[in-house]
Amino acid sequence: MSIASTDLSPDRLKLQGLARELAQGPVAARAAEVDATEQYPWDHVERLKEAKLLGLTIPKQYGGQGRDWLDAVLVIEQLSAACSVTGRIAVETNMGAISAVMAYGSEAQKKLAADMVLAGDKPAICITEPEAGSDAGGMTTRADRVGNGFVLNGTKHWITGGGVSRLHLIFAKVYDRDGNEEGIGGFLAIRDETKGLKIVKREPTMGLRGIPEAEIAFEDMELLPDALVIPPRGLKKGFADLMNAYNSQRVGAATVALGIAEGAYAHALEWSEKREQFGRPINEFQGLQWKLADMSIRLAAAQGLVYKAALSGTGGFPDMLMAAQAKVFTSENAIAVVNDALQFFGARGYSRNLPLERMARDVRMFTIGGGTAEVLRNVVASSILKKKLPQTRDGWGKE
Ligand SMILES: Cc1cc2nc3c(=O)[nH]c(=O)nc-3n(C[C@H](O)[C@H](O)[C@H](O)COP(=O)(O)OP(=O)(O)OC[C@H]3O[C@@H](n4cnc5c(N)ncnc54)[C@H](O)[C@@H]3O)c2cc1C
Repeated sequence: MSIASTDLSPDRLKLQGLARELAQGPVAARAAEVDATEQYPWDHVERLKEAKLLGLTIPKQYGGQGRDWLDAVLVIEQLSAACSVTGRIAVETNMGAISAVMAYGSEAQKKLAADMVLAGDKPAICITEPEAGSDAGGMTTRADRVGNGFVLNGTKHWITGGGVSRLHLIFAKVYDRDGNEEGIGGFLAIRDETKGLKIVKREPTMGLRGIPEAEIAFEDMELLPDALVIPPRGLKKGFADLMNAYNSQRVGAATVALGIAEGAYAHALEWSEKREQFGRPINEFQGLQWKLADMSIRLAAAQGLVYKAALSGTGGFPDMLMAAQAKVFTSENAIAVVNDALQFFGARGYSRNLPLERMARDVRMFTIGGGTAEVLRNVVASSILKKKLPQTRDGWGKE
């Protein structure tokens, strides 16, 4: 299948071709098994490493390839069409936590994070808490300044990669020695090398089962001063830095949803020619032709938004408005496209023998994780109205 693509340079087409070959070969071959066994696909990580598809966006001086967000998007899109878990690994080794460290970290932190990612580690980003989801600023995990360093206490949940990731970027409210809040800061910690970092449990998820979602507790976790990557810088700034870096992750999440939907569409298109009923291929029925037409329109529009959002970040981070628009539109339309694709297969689509039911479970996540569709609509509204829109009752009407 080929969605009408924008003008991609020969270099980008080559990269896309490399990812497609890997995706449609060994990655696709193991996608069902990864889902069924719920095992993290370390073999896919190795293949990404060998193909130099890990750390594409990491600057060359740290061993990466210094590529831009669109390059990463092209790779993630191909991988996700075959195996969404592998697509997500490509997101988190190119965007989110690693990008935050590369933008805000010290030389030593950048080197550490780049080396770990290039060796195959998918960093975990720890923001969400049981009582602070969409309202991430309401987090209660605290980092108290003690001596020269920090002591962290709190619980995060739904942390992607919890239990397989080694590098963790943890967000917490920082308190000075007198107990005054300084704002939200971001800290680096390495699992198994940091006492007090505990993987509490794994969530039983609907889809994306090859990658663990875990609850993680920090119990009197001591960190040295050089663990601080994003300083609190007043009450709002650390959080703003986090959200800035998170725009790349949002574009990445939108890309995985796009890739899954493109993969499902390709299956439906092929099957619609093969499957005959009433003596003719089912794609000769207008009801299904219009479905195919609508699917292709949704995908082309989503791809345009995703690529545009990715390009908006060249030399920095993707634009917040474009990233939010891309994620809302793509996640919702990808769910619709996968659902329609499954319908083409009739009963077979409902079987675990075909990838459609897996894709339907996997794609459902993308209106939730990384900012829900509702919260991202708030971001879009806030941006177009150029007004802050406080969500708390006591904040209503305040600056
Ligand atoms: C598979 C998966 C992976 C994830 N990975 C990570 C990760 O690696 N790291 C991490 O930190 N977090 C992660 N998350 C958590 C994710 O970011 C949160 O689930 C998300 O921010 C929503 O928070 P919540 O689940 O607490 O929902 P809630 O905030 O409780 O929201 C419940 C409902 O209320 C709506 N709502 C809430 N506030 C508003 C508002 N102001 N306006 C309109 N509607 C509103 C929401 O849209 C939603 O429909 C992951 C989640 C999933 C499902």
